[in-house]
Amino acid sequence: MQFESELEKYTTMGLTGGFEIKGEEKKHWLGDYRERIVFALLEEQVMKKEALTILKEKVTDKRIDKLVIRNDIPEMIRDKMMDIAKMADITYKEIEKDDTAGPIALTLASKEAVEVDNVIMDNMPNLPEKFKRSKNKYLCEEHMEELKKEAPYFVNEFKEVNFFDKLTGEKCGVCELKNNGIMM
Ligand SMILES: [Zn+2]
Repeated sequence: MQFESELEKYTTMGLTGGFEIKGEEKKHWLGDYRERIVFALLEEQVMKKEALTILKEKVTDKRIDKLVIRNDIPEMIRDKMMDIAKMADITYKEIEKDDTAGPIALTLASKEAVEVDNVIMDNMPNLPEKFKRSKNKYLCEEHMEELKKEAPYFVNEFKEVNFFDKLTGEKCGVCELKNNGIMM
């Protein structure tokens, strides 16, 4: 009987240990298992303007069922994230900071295990300065090509000037900078 009770103790300990690990894992990933996470943003990344553009693109991934954000993130940002979730028709959820641990402030998660390798971006994509300073949202073919190559995440923020735009006098906002003597 000694053996049995030792085994029992071991099993119980093993299980408890397992639960603790899972608990920590879920805290880190805002209430989910790591295997269900498709994408995550760290606190300092959520605060960046670029986060919105990136998320708008990321939520088009059909595996995603919900967006979870920590409730200590400023309301202005949370509201925008709620809009993105609504737009993508996925669940929006806020989680108490106290129920989390670590630097992650937002996750896009699936109901199932998806096993995505790199869910955190080391470097947030950044819109090059000349596009930031563009006079408008129109780009000529050449500048659109440049944007596609250098900052593909931001392509949807701009529109390539087409025949009809030209008729109404729309011009590439980046070329306009140059025409106004602003060197980029
Ligand atoms: Zn141009």
